[in-house]
Amino acid sequence: MASLSLKHIRKVYPNGFEAVKDFNLEVEDKEFIIFVGPSGCGKSTTLRMIAGLEEISGGEFSIDGKIMNDVEPKDRDIAMVFQNYALYPHMTVFDNMAFGLKLRKVPKAEIKQKVEEAAKILDLDKLLDRKPKALSGGQRQRVAMGRAIVRNPKVFLMDEPLSNLDAKLRVQMRSEISALHQRLGATIIYVTHDQTEAMTLGTRIVVLKDGDIMQVDSPIKLYNEP
Ligand code: ADP
Ligand code: ADP
Repeated sequence: MASLSLKHIRKVYPNGFEAVKDFNLEVEDKEFIIFVGPSGCGKSTTLRMIAGLEEISGGEFSIDGKIMNDVEPKDRDIAMVFQNYALYPHMTVFDNMAFGLKLRKVPKAEIKQKVEEAAKILDLDKLLDRKPKALSGGQRQRVAMGRAIVRNPKVFLMDEPLSNLDAKLRVQMRSEISALHQRLGATIIYVTHDQTEAMTLGTRIVVLKDGDIMQVDSPIKLYNEP
């Protein structure tokens, strides 16, 4: 289970710039929340605060009622998938996928089992010894996804995970992400500029502008209003 609560969340960067202003959102367990909005409106900053990669300047963030503001990233039950995949170039697919588990001192045998299981789901089982350089864009994207799912986290954060793929792969990965959401029963927050992705994946869409929430609605309401 993972419900998220963001209350009066603010981010002021050290240079004084207020990137997020009074962000309020209650996310229910297993929701698929989409963040949309123009470049620079604060989508990534908000995701990074949820992941613990960026300090929260004000307000309260909690998961299942537990306040998370000061919890270390590795102690949050959250995995993040980045737009640029952030794979380690010198490591194999296996080691890239195992990285987060090693960091958390998961026993070796368990790591092997989890990585192999995820690799099977993502059709990477024949590629575990390769380096990222020797993979296609779609395969790299799957490794990034695999690194997140091996941890079986309650919360997934995805920052434009498909934007570097060609149109055909985007459609394919879109349905894979939808299937993963069902299969893992995780709560997802997903940033995209793609309206089709937003409409097909999202349970609710959050529209941001200049660090503020403009609107929160279901895809049907948001995109079918006159
Ligand atoms: P989005 O993901 O919606 O494109 P971001 O969250 O990346 O937007 O950025 C929100 C705003 O915060 C932008 O105006 C950006 O320039 C600014 N910003 C991001 N990182 C920093 C930083 N480290 N210092 C100062 N301003 C930043
Ligand atoms: P976790 O699953 O615990 O977040 P990751 O394997 O995603 O662990 O990586 C841990 C940290 O290292 C993350 O903050 C990620 O952004 C960063 N990271 C991963 N790959 C690279 C890379 N190739 N270059 C720089 N930073 C990276």
